[in-house]
Amino acid sequence: MRGVAILGSTGSIGRSTLAVLRRHADEFRVVALTARSDAAGLAAQVEEWTPPISGIADGGTEAGAAILTGAATDSRVDIVVNAIVGAAGLDATLAALAAGKRVALANKESLVMAGELVLEAARAGGGEVIPIDSEHSAVLQCMSGCRAPVSRVTLTASGGPFRDWDAGRMALATVEQALQHPTWRMGRKISVDSATLANKALELIEAHHLFGLSYDALGAVIHPQSIVHALVEFADGSVVAQLGFPSMELPILYALTHPDRLPDQGIRRFDPLSAGPLTFEAVRTERFAAFRAGIEAGRAGGTAPAVFNAANEEAVAAFLAGRISFGRIGELVSETVGAHDPRPATDLDTVRHADCWARRQVRERAG
Ligand code: MG
Repeated sequence: MRGVAILGSTGSIGRSTLAVLRRHADEFRVVALTARSDAAGLAAQVEEWTPPISGIADGGTEAGAAILTGAATDSRVDIVVNAIVGAAGLDATLAALAAGKRVALANKESLVMAGELVLEAARAGGGEVIPIDSEHSAVLQCMSGCRAPVSRVTLTASGGPFRDWDAGRMALATVEQALQHPTWRMGRKISVDSATLANKALELIEAHHLFGLSYDALGAVIHPQSIVHALVEFADGSVVAQLGFPSMELPILYALTHPDRLPDQGIRRFDPLSAGPLTFEAVRTERFAAFRAGIEAGRAGGTAPAVFNAANEEAVAAFLAGRISFGRIGELVSETVGAHDPRPATDLDTVRHADCWARRQVRERAG
């Protein structure tokens, strides 16, 4: 029995994780459940799973961070599912890796903000990062058992709800429209990130760290059906792709069992005949300023990705609160990344400082 801590258990990934664990109660034991604010949702989960550790914990506060770190490093925990939204998830990732745990990572912001520090914590503590993000899970699955060098990784993007919209109409999109994701049901922050394509830039930065690939060897294509999750090209030119109907339960299960697989009849079987045509098109980067800013930040490295992430979080929060237009998100993110002078991200203080600076910039500019 492997012990599992789920940080962010009442969110979309947390609930999907519990749905997976319900089918594998003989393999995994729930040791810890934490939620940022949904007390009623957490209480219902605690009643069902009776974990020894549970609590309301906002990683953005000192008390909350202490609860998350405690859960992530507990001796009964083997796997930490980090499903916290945003920068608040970084401390728990670092603590779990330093304690030698497997981190099943849905909190891509950890790697984006502090990729080098996260990988260093894993090396030093003996922990490992296994991505839950469907595209990165796909890459890992394609690479599994293969020692040949990878020459190129392509992540797919659904294109979000505004794939066919012109720039003028998109700039004035409402919150409700931005949350209407065509293929995935997800939390609010990541749904907006998918609409701006900031999510794909975050994922390319995440892939850069996870798979040790340069930005020239990484790319994204629009694939509206969300069936092919990633394509991996090997040195001999062969391309291996991973396919499946959109569901986070498969990448979650794989993150728990990698490099093994468990039989699971609860996951909808892929059928190419019912999938319909699979199409691919180029990302129209001219319409997606946040995406361009993210790639620019990734290539600049150092503190730039942390600035991109923080600016994006603040801008998305301002949009969701009705304070800025949809079009303003990309503008604020690019202005902030453009105004930043990147420094090497050698320690956590430097990263946090850059993060705070970017948030202040966006708040001032958003007005
Ligand atoms: Mg993804």
